[in-house]
Amino acid sequence: MIKRFIRRVLGLPAHAPQRVPRARHALRREALSSSALKVCDVLRDAGYSASVVGGAVRDLLLDIAPKDYDVATDARPEQVKPLFRRALLIGRRFRLVHVMLGPETVEVSTFRAADAGTTDKDEHGRVLRDNVFGSQEEDARRRDFTVNALYFDPATEEIIDYHGGLADLRRHVLRMIGDPETRYREDPVRMLRAVRLAAKLGLTIESGTRAPIRRLAPLIEHVPPARVFDEMLKLLLSGHASACVRQLREEGLSKGVLPLLDVILEQPLGERFVTLALAQTDERVRTERSVSPAFLFAALLWHEVLAAWKTRQAKGERPVTALEAAMDSVLDAQFEKLALTRKLTATMREVWAMQPRFEQRGGQRPMRLLEAPRFRMGYDFLALRAASGEVSAELEAWWRAFQQADADSRRAMLLPDTGPRKKRRRRRRRKDPGVEVPEQA
Ligand code: ATP
Ligand code: MG
Repeated sequence: MIKRFIRRVLGLPAHAPQRVPRARHALRREALSSSALKVCDVLRDAGYSASVVGGAVRDLLLDIAPKDYDVATDARPEQVKPLFRRALLIGRRFRLVHVMLGPETVEVSTFRAADAGTTDKDEHGRVLRDNVFGSQEEDARRRDFTVNALYFDPATEEIIDYHGGLADLRRHVLRMIGDPETRYREDPVRMLRAVRLAAKLGLTIESGTRAPIRRLAPLIEHVPPARVFDEMLKLLLSGHASACVRQLREEGLSKGVLPLLDVILEQPLGERFVTLALAQTDERVRTERSVSPAFLFAALLWHEVLAAWKTRQAKGERPVTALEAAMDSVLDAQFEKLALTRKLTATMREVWAMQPRFEQRGGQRPMRLLEAPRFRMGYDFLALRAASGEVSAELEAWWRAFQQADADSRRAMLLPDTGPRKKRRRRRRRKDPGVEVPEQA
């Protein structure tokens, strides 16, 4: 028991590496993608070892279709590349080879070690550089969770398991390899990975692996924003975004990644809106329909924009100016944390700026809005607002019918552009062409 504890703290294998023969597990080489199989076979024929490792082995054992395949080998990147017709060396610091076979890309990496003597760390223990080649055993030790450190050798159909990953997988447990606190300090993104993988795979985070997260959550702030953004995107597009966001909040991680999320989720309408947006995203991912990250981030931050917009209008700012300023302030606050790209924020702005235009159903305006480049996304956003009770269901139904109608019916649907309320609107519009305050906002 004590011996096992010491081994775990030192990050050493909990048991001797287990070579699990094909008779004792269900994974067969035919289950791999033909490209992954090909890459392993070619490497082996050239005299190197090659096994599939990480997420693909884990997912296949859980009967989930892997997103992509990683192959680990003892061949150096420059030995791997010439073996394939279409292969790219990528990464400056630590080079990997991307082998492209048909539409698939297989990532081939050379066994790596996390050598204590040569690793650079920042003052919080975050690893800044680890670029030493190593053995398969060392490669296993630098991986994050036991279930992510299983190697499947297609030639023998053996699974090589250094850290008891197979047993954890059978018990549906997500367990950090080594001392969880040290491993989170080395790379705080592992906290986000724990939450995402547990939700995606239906695993329970083992208590020792879970315990330090709340305390160490603020370390996320020291991670380069682009990495946080990548991980957030993976999380939101995992098909389990609702569960992940709930868990992020429970673990106190939401403050580091979406500082405004907690605020939004505490407003009743905001919570309903975000919950619906996430549920809808999960549904789309699971039915393999496309999801736009811009739409998703626009949804996550909408109530923040709405609140800022209202405050500014209450101070007497004109609607258009107030909305512009509200969008700026919200995006500025998120920009540094999330490294949202310019392209993404441009689309988010388009979707937001379109919302007040849906309130105008007279004259030529609806026709013009219909032709806006992101009309469909803007309308989907309106539908979400209606579903959450922020705008009327009648408004959404009108726009749904208007889109589907032919030209004559559209003309008939337009609301009269007269009447006392309209006059007031027209006056306001003259000052502020294009945008008007939505009634409910
Ligand atoms: P998925 O592909 O479903 O998102 P994954 O576990 O395959 O999950 P990848 O980012 O593809 O995630 O990483 C492949 C493998 O690399 C992991 O299974 C794990 O062994 C290792 N790995 C990835 N990120 C880390 C990390 N931050 N720390 C240690 N090991 C990691
Ligand atoms: Mg993967």
